[in-house]
Amino acid sequence: MPVIVQKFGGSSVADASRIHLAARRAVRALLGGNQVVLVVSAMGGTTDKLVELAAQVSRRPAKREMDMLLATGEQVSIALMAMAIHEAGYEAVSLTGAQVGLVTDSTHTRARIQSIDTPRLQRVLAQGKIVIVAGFQGVDRDFNITTLGRGGSDTTAVALAAALQARACEIHTDVDGIYTADPRLVPQARKLDAISYDEMLEMAALGAGVMHARAIELGKKYGVPIHVRGSSSDNPGTMIMNETPGMEGVVVRGATLKRDITRVTLAGLPNEPGVTAAVFEAVAEHGILVDDIMQTLADGGEKVTLGFTVEGRETGETRAVAELVARRFNVDNPDIAADLARISVVGVGMRSHAGVAARMFNALAAEKIKIENIATSEIVISVLVPADDGERALQVVHQAFELDQTK
Ligand code: ADP
Ligand code: ASP
Ligand code: MG
Repeated sequence: MPVIVQKFGGSSVADASRIHLAARRAVRALLGGNQVVLVVSAMGGTTDKLVELAAQVSRRPAKREMDMLLATGEQVSIALMAMAIHEAGYEAVSLTGAQVGLVTDSTHTRARIQSIDTPRLQRVLAQGKIVIVAGFQGVDRDFNITTLGRGGSDTTAVALAAALQARACEIHTDVDGIYTADPRLVPQARKLDAISYDEMLEMAALGAGVMHARAIELGKKYGVPIHVRGSSSDNPGTMIMNETPGMEGVVVRGATLKRDITRVTLAGLPNEPGVTAAVFEAVAEHGILVDDIMQTLADGGEKVTLGFTVEGRETGETRAVAELVARRFNVDNPDIAADLARISVVGVGMRSHAGVAARMFNALAAEKIKIENIATSEIVISVLVPADDGERALQVVHQAFELDQTK
């Protein structure tokens, strides 16, 4: 019998009536002749509340204990979901990450999945029961509870779909698909029928919070068709799939905004082999994830100015590390700009079209939005802009590429 994995996000299980609605969808899939695995997130707002609670108790809570705390949210919703399915007259069993043998590495708060005990799941499915799995959580080899990073229930769902060779992985959420930009920020954004794994992976990594980036990576690797759709409508959503030849025709598929970008600049470093390596070794040793790196010559080539960007949350630690590096090379304290946003356009068609960057820069210039840095890759062009201009810049770029119109 075909397996179908349905994931319901936080707002789609936020109260009793929505839990019943989700339960009915699962039952419908079961009656349609499928074995059904449901993956659920914590009820809307729960994870944020737990994070706040931890902050009230400790300024730097241990990551292991954060995982222990945050994983409780999903345990509440799986039990409630099972009860709702029982109410509807069907059999269901709720299982935590540990109970489905979802083993991860030990990187607390952003662990990666290593394996899943599918035989156990298959046994329960074969009994005709709907299996409800807690998203976002797993367990390491020493039985410590881990979590997969915020938004990680998507990854649980896609990983289960891959492990069970599911026919489809449906992501039910509070928007009815993937849009050309976050519809909350760009009212003109348009729903896409399809998007390639590569494009969605970039969009997710660059700020489109609708999908967890790691879920897309797994989807691509194992060829899982992912269908993102609204949890309260029957309209078709967006298919995330391999690129098709026609897809190249669209130059820009979507635009994203990522807030809270911090840029660190170290000026006056000696221009000698090994300096750049030493700086980034120190940064990496402290587990700081770097996005962009910019290096320019200064003082007629005697010195270099080295800059890099990190995501906002890490500022405190980043500052300490940057100051450490500055002391080591006897240069001025780093300049830290914590008020930047990144605007990106993404599209596989960029590979075969020229002039995309110019169009983006012109549109921003016409609106007098200052570009602080530029980064490009094969299918992405990103600019850093002042944080206050972020939303407007996203709208300007969306308009410049006429993303509201079907091509
Ligand atoms: P869930 O709780 O179901 O996982 P999320 O809040 O994680 O839901 O993701 C859905 C939200 O993602 C939407 O409400 C929307 O504001 C946001 N979003 C950001 N970018 C996009 C996009 N390009 N298309 C659709 N939604 C987007
Ligand atoms: N509950 C977790 C979060 O809020 C995981 C998820 O919703 O995907 O990040
Ligand atoms: Mg989500």
